[in-house]
Amino acid sequence: MAGSYKDVVKRARSAYNGGRTLSVEHRRRQLQQLRQMCLDHKDTFLDALKIDLRKPQLEAMMLEVNAVIMDITYTLNRLDKWVKTEMVSSAIPFDRSYIYNDPYGVVLVMGAWNYPLQLALLPVTGALAAGNAVILKPSEVSPATASALAKLIPLYLDKECVQVVCGGVEETTQLLQERFDYIFYTGSATVGKIIREAANKFLTPTTLELGGKSPCYIDNSVDLNLAVRRVLWGKMQNLGQTCIAPDYLLCSKALQDPIIKKVKEVLREWYGHDPKDSPHLARIVAERHVERLASYLECGKVVVGGRFDLSDRWVEPTLLVDVPENSKVMTEEIFGPILPIINVETHVDAIKFINKREKPLALYVFSKKEAVKELFLRQVRCGGVTINDTLFHAASSTMPFGGVGNSGMGAYHGKYSFDTFTHKKSCLNRSYNPLIEKVTRARFPPYTEKNMKALISQKDPGDGPGVLHHLKVFTKYLFSMSIGALLLFLYIRYTYVKV
Ligand code: NAD
Repeated sequence: MAGSYKDVVKRARSAYNGGRTLSVEHRRRQLQQLRQMCLDHKDTFLDALKIDLRKPQLEAMMLEVNAVIMDITYTLNRLDKWVKTEMVSSAIPFDRSYIYNDPYGVVLVMGAWNYPLQLALLPVTGALAAGNAVILKPSEVSPATASALAKLIPLYLDKECVQVVCGGVEETTQLLQERFDYIFYTGSATVGKIIREAANKFLTPTTLELGGKSPCYIDNSVDLNLAVRRVLWGKMQNLGQTCIAPDYLLCSKALQDPIIKKVKEVLREWYGHDPKDSPHLARIVAERHVERLASYLECGKVVVGGRFDLSDRWVEPTLLVDVPENSKVMTEEIFGPILPIINVETHVDAIKFINKREKPLALYVFSKKEAVKELFLRQVRCGGVTINDTLFHAASSTMPFGGVGNSGMGAYHGKYSFDTFTHKKSCLNRSYNPLIEKVTRARFPPYTEKNMKALISQKDPGDGPGVLHHLKVFTKYLFSMSIGALLLFLYIRYTYVKV
């Protein structure tokens, strides 16, 4: 097996070294083909997601297939602009400074099972747009989607520049022995550390998209009906198996009962008398995860739900109260439809509670009070925030998505994906201008006190408009004045001739 991974990487590297991934036209074609694959095989992917997770079609369409199509379209529409070499100002007049957007080379993308299409193809989109060759390793825990990707990608994309490798821990361990130029990993922090260790061997840069416990605070200033719907929507997508799902609720004791009442009402309205029969809820990915989730039910008092069924990979939407801070459900990432409620007296206590723990991937604040929102934003370090809703910040192509600390490093989506897979290469093109050389020759030996003083006396001009800007403004004025003078001249001449 190890031999074949060597060949996979070798093939990708020789394709990359051949230079075709650098061509913007080649990148564009690959992205168009990737999008076409999603359009042509939308149903194949929807079926696979149903087999793997029993994902409801609307969720699968919105957060997997369509999310990928939209991201590719967003990228294609801006690719020409993103790839451009950027000219920046230079410290020394007559020099020219550029930033080139270089691809890294051969990149490894490792997906997770919970959004097996989106988490595989969004990074692949960024990697291709940036001009890399890609080896994709989808999660073995969602085998139907993994095999659909392995079957379809070679039919649509350049077979050497984009290759799919399937397998579990053993295969991944062997694959990681190979040298990559970038590794993009989505999954747990535990495996994230293994990935970093493997990457260290070759000093390979990595992005780690990890998880953790994303808190959700609600205060009494909000419309509870809407707030509860928005929290439950974020929590019940994919039956709670979303890295940025609200993990636990923080609210005052007084708000707890109204929230429980509202949760019961909304669950009944959305999923009927028995949510297990509802077609609008996915399933837990594997029996061992049902067992793990079932063990959390012991951590507090069940006030809503609480049933599970191993053979159907089912856990009921559940609310827990009276949960000790150090219980398992409050120390591990839940990743399922169980929502513990923790009582805090004020928003300041909520912030203290959150900041005692690892930095979360997402934070949700439900409040109409500007000062409350502002305090959370200023005092909590986390991957991203949605205020008065859940999940939405991650759906934006204009904002970076990623964690911080234990919830990850690096970010992607939209232009941030392109930048993640791009090395920004600085290039300073010096001039031979004799006047400038006179000023800068103080750097050459023999070193003297006078030269040192001259060199260290240089002042930072600040970020304000530079000489070039003033020159441009001056030229514009000169141009307008000349036009004005010309018009005046013509007018006088015309009047004079008439007289
Ligand atoms: P995981 O870490 O168990 O597995 C992810 C990948 O790592 C799989 O492809 C698997 O083959 C490989 N792997 C597992 N064990 C390995 C080992 N010992 N050596 C080498 N490779 C190994 O993660 P998961 O269970 O697939 O995903 C759940 C976690 O991912 C949760 O913590 C969740 O929050 C997080 N997640 C994060 C994001 C994000 O965008 N930040 C998205 C989805 C999931």
